[in-house]
Amino acid sequence: MTDSAVPTVLLFGATGQVGSAVARLLRGRQPCPRLIALSSAQADFRRPDSLRDLVRRERPDFIVNAAAYTAVDRAESEIELAHLINATAPGVLAEEAARIGASLLHYSTDYVFEGSAAEPYSENDVPNPLSAYGRSKLAGERAIAITGARHVIIRTSWVYSSRGSNFLLTMRRLFQERDEVRVVNDQYGAPTSAGFLAHATLVVLETALRRADFAGGVYHLTASGYTTWFGFAQRIYESLKSREPLKCGRVVPIATDEYPTPARRPRWSVLDSSKFQREFGLAPSSWQEQLDSVLVELQ
Ligand code: NDP
Repeated sequence: MTDSAVPTVLLFGATGQVGSAVARLLRGRQPCPRLIALSSAQADFRRPDSLRDLVRRERPDFIVNAAAYTAVDRAESEIELAHLINATAPGVLAEEAARIGASLLHYSTDYVFEGSAAEPYSENDVPNPLSAYGRSKLAGERAIAITGARHVIIRTSWVYSSRGSNFLLTMRRLFQERDEVRVVNDQYGAPTSAGFLAHATLVVLETALRRADFAGGVYHLTASGYTTWFGFAQRIYESLKSREPLKCGRVVPIATDEYPTPARRPRWSVLDSSKFQREFGLAPSSWQEQLDSVLVELQ
């Protein structure tokens, strides 16, 4: 942080992929902000009104909301719970932020789009989610916007890290257990590391401290480039193969139809990050570079 006064950051979802990476980076900052990092046990989004007291007590300068219901397939059968956690609770945080003049940084998803485009989605494109998860996240964006709180919503995609539950770690396990791994090759997106998103989060907080006139609203931010889940898996496989014993002999590309899931996913969910780059001066590294860094951490 560059400001002379030490700001207070109230972080929700501190045990998740992005939340834990944000906490780690903030703790390493000099001067270190006053960080209140909360797990779901300390701040339960299933009881949105309980969050009001917390915000009123701590009076943060920034609220970073990395908590979310992220089980995309399960959300199809837990629609109300997903809405409560992804829409109602963030709306309450935004109301409280507006009340005390705090800024809110929140994350959303490429799954707000239906995926029929042929070029990267910009913030001006109209969302049309295919899944209950996507609808709950879009409702969260809207619940925040209507409060009038100063906010930044970062829509990102295909998040992974060296910990937690994600595609990278699932693939690694399957490569260890199976002779052959079949992966969908007709959904396109940009795998994005939680560490990169944490770095971008700090850039936003520092910009907000420096420039009161920074533009709030929705921003797209992912690693640069894009691939399919198969392309991502293939790269993970090639990298791991040279470092550790794997049972898997080959990764096989398949169509989405061959791997039915409860939630429908966009075929194309590549996001255009240029607005973020212009406003915050951060150029995303490629998805391959981000993967290489996370694989180093994994070792
Ligand atoms: P994780 O699934 O890794 O972490 C989710 C976090 O939310 C955990 O800290 C979890 O806490 C917390 N949480 C879950 N339920 C509750 C609850 N009832 N009350 C309070 N906290 C709760 O998520 P990511 O870090 O991957 O995602 C961060 C953000 O990025 C989210 O907004 C997500 O929608 C968005 N995003 C994620 C993508 C992905 O591929 N993962 C893709 C695009 C966007 P606990 O561990 O205690 O359960």
